[in-house]
Amino acid sequence: MDRDFGLSEDQREVVLAVREFMAERAGPVAAGFEERHEFPRDLFRELGGMGLAGIPYDEAYGGGGQTFLTYLAVLEEVARGFFSLALALSVHHLSAFGVHAFGSEELKRRYLPRLFAGEWLGAYALSEASSGSDAASLRCKAERSDGGWLLTGSKRFITHAGQAEFYLVMARTGDGSPKGISALVVEKGWDGFDFGKLESKMGWSASPMRELLFEGCQVPGENLVGAEGQGFTIALAGLDCGRLGIAACSVGLAQAAFEAALGFAKERQQFGKAIIEFEGLQFMLADMATQIEAARRLYRDAGRVRDAGGDYSTGASMAKLFASDTAMRVTTDAVQIHGGYGYMQEYPVERFMREAKALQIVEGTNQIQRMVIGRRLAEA
Ligand SMILES: Cc1cc2nc3c(=O)[nH]c(=O)nc-3n(C[C@H](O)[C@H](O)[C@H](O)COP(=O)(O)OP(=O)(O)OC[C@H]3O[C@@H](n4cnc5c(N)ncnc54)[C@H](O)[C@@H]3O)c2cc1C
Repeated sequence: MDRDFGLSEDQREVVLAVREFMAERAGPVAAGFEERHEFPRDLFRELGGMGLAGIPYDEAYGGGGQTFLTYLAVLEEVARGFFSLALALSVHHLSAFGVHAFGSEELKRRYLPRLFAGEWLGAYALSEASSGSDAASLRCKAERSDGGWLLTGSKRFITHAGQAEFYLVMARTGDGSPKGISALVVEKGWDGFDFGKLESKMGWSASPMRELLFEGCQVPGENLVGAEGQGFTIALAGLDCGRLGIAACSVGLAQAAFEAALGFAKERQQFGKAIIEFEGLQFMLADMATQIEAARRLYRDAGRVRDAGGDYSTGASMAKLFASDTAMRVTTDAVQIHGGYGYMQEYPVERFMREAKALQIVEGTNQIQRMVIGRRLAEA
């Protein structure tokens, strides 16, 4: 099966360069970073140096000026070799999206070149301790002060917190409705901005997560992204792109698990032959390959719709839902095909299975994706 089928010559060229980088540089060291719970900052910088930290964004701000599909295909390839590194690209993209799509010229010029060069790392802060799926009920507050905003409150479960320099923070500037939310850019190191302890998670160990703590943090007025009260719209628009990114990461992770299982099944002997010769396992592998291919086509198709300027929002939810469920099923089956070895940390598939679980939760749980798709069906 040609995984690059349907990509243009230019897109194939970028994907091949990434495949080479992953095989030689990043893939072999992935397990070590995960074991040490260490964020691969230098590898991220290298990706930035290769022009991969801002692939679909305007060249005027240091972006790559390439298609969104190119970005997604790159994410898949990175996730196949080192999941947390792909996640870093995806979250980074999500954080920059708001400024690129809604920010003033001054904000774009100030922040985007550093982000797209991979010098600065971005984080996206929407969730709070008491508002997850119901994100519009957030409480973190920004009040007008000295021509800017005084930020007070906290944000929970924030990927890259502590490591990132750039934070896109959704805060309440008005009434309790979604229109009372605004988006602000906050920099690491500003007075009144601190971090909680490093969270201990089931997986994604090389991807740091902490709480953001704001105690009267003064944010300059010009760091408001878009208009006052536009923050929730900005957050949701970012999530549409982000969901496609999570879908592409899911496919890359599932592909890695599938390749590991296929390789193992060809090697492992029981009852005098390679276990791949048993029809029971062939059927499992056939289902895994089919589901991965279907998930790939879903996210790539939605990516093409986005590149053509079409409405891809429902397609993004469908791709995120199907691809992350596929990653969960495929990684679980990959462990099963490895038998007892699959349960051992010596083999990568148990980590893949732990990594897959969070994909069904982030950027809108899969229940929320079904809700989004269902509402669209009811409206039609
Ligand atoms: C590894 C990881 C990284 C993350 N990174 C970030 C980040 O960088 N930035 C950020 O802002 N957030 C981040 N999050 C937070 C993530 O977006 C939330 O965890 C997610 O949106 C779910 O919110 P919750 O955890 O509060 O669960 P809840 O919303 O409390 O949901 C609990 C359960 O109820 C279900 N549920 C809720 N409402 C409904 C409904 N209407 N219908 C049916 N079922 C429903 C959910 O599907 C879920 O099963 C991260 C989370 C994780 C685990």
